[in-house]
Amino acid sequence: MNKELPRHAPLTQFPVEDDCLVVGGMRLTRLAERVGRTPFYVYDRRLITERVEHLRKFLPKEIHLHYAMKANPMPAVVQHLAGLVDGFDVASAGEMKVALDTPMPPEHISMAGPGKRAEELSSAIAAGILINVESAHELDVIARQSERLGYPARVAIRINPAFELKSSGMKMGGGPKQFGVDEEQVPTLLRRIRDYELDFHGFHIFSGSQNLRSEAIIEAQKKSVELALRLADHCPSPIRVLNIGGGFGIPYFPGEQRLDIAPIGEQLSERLEDIRPYLPNATVVIELGRYIVGEAGLYVCRVIDRKVSRGQVFLVTDGGLHHHLAASGNFGQVIRKNYPVVIGNKVQGTEREEASVVGPLCTPLDILGDRMDLARADIGDLVVVYQSGAYGYTASPSLFLSQPVATEVLV
Ligand SMILES: *Cc1c(COP(=O)(O)O)cnc(C)c1O
Repeated sequence: MNKELPRHAPLTQFPVEDDCLVVGGMRLTRLAERVGRTPFYVYDRRLITERVEHLRKFLPKEIHLHYAMKANPMPAVVQHLAGLVDGFDVASAGEMKVALDTPMPPEHISMAGPGKRAEELSSAIAAGILINVESAHELDVIARQSERLGYPARVAIRINPAFELKSSGMKMGGGPKQFGVDEEQVPTLLRRIRDYELDFHGFHIFSGSQNLRSEAIIEAQKKSVELALRLADHCPSPIRVLNIGGGFGIPYFPGEQRLDIAPIGEQLSERLEDIRPYLPNATVVIELGRYIVGEAGLYVCRVIDRKVSRGQVFLVTDGGLHHHLAASGNFGQVIRKNYPVVIGNKVQGTEREEASVVGPLCTPLDILGDRMDLARADIGDLVVVYQSGAYGYTASPSLFLSQPVATEVLV
């Protein structure tokens, strides 16, 4: 029997010269010298720019493209994106600070997330950003802070829809959820926004993340628009912002195919036609994190030891789950699968072997690659994890085991 094993989708975003990856116009070996130490994350600004251009090419012109900062809040990356996207979505006062340090106008920044504290809310009101309200209690706190400050908060309601985003890697809508206000309760909340005389802007409907099926995304967008139109009559003022979420995924694991965004763009044009007669003042927003930055980043660490245990090769590196939880398989995966990994300075190599890449932590969870086909690597070689531009550095438990932290560069 000759079983065809599933493979990683082709990754051609970084060129190879003399069998060495080239990142930002520099060979990886030289870049590692420039950075001065391993492990590090490197993000390529050209790839980020190209990704935004790709989205602009396929999405209707009227759609506003927002960057969800939690995917990668590195200030240099956010600064770069300030000139490319139409707005930022922040999920904390810390992210808001980074966003406000860029030239992005505060009117184009929104804040979402459950459990916003009174101080975070008053900062957001003072900054003049849009607050996506997640609960009735939060609305009361916003109203109190608005009164104290003397100016009305700009608010939208984040809705927890009754539907789910099908085949999504991480569901964030449908059923009981800690996110947003259940769609059934929205009319009541809208009445309170009117009574409080807050500055109502519209709705935010985010149903999930990491989706690779355009049909599922199209369906969720259609249902989001229908939901907003159903609720429009209850609004205290015309809807000015309709944020229909994102959820665009990137291929991480063997067998996964790239998301086709052309059909999403075509369907969105039709949605805009559905919306226009009823909500002529509404700006429709799509918010994306990982799709914009995920493929533009690499995680690079160095082989510290090479050992063979009962016939299995282990490359022990100076990096691991404390810097890159997602690649270790411990960030929302049910069954551990390998991210794409190569030896950065020996992409093909002269000899191939099956090897596992592990980190320096005293836990069997610290795996970056489990029995992968790699070029034969030696001590000092550079191990590269692809698809690491999102949910890497800041999504990892860097304090665990008191190892040195990784560094980040934008090239
Ligand atoms: C996390 C999050 C996003 C970004 O999700 P990606 O999968 O990175 O695109 C967008 N909007 C909200 C509300 C989020 O919580």
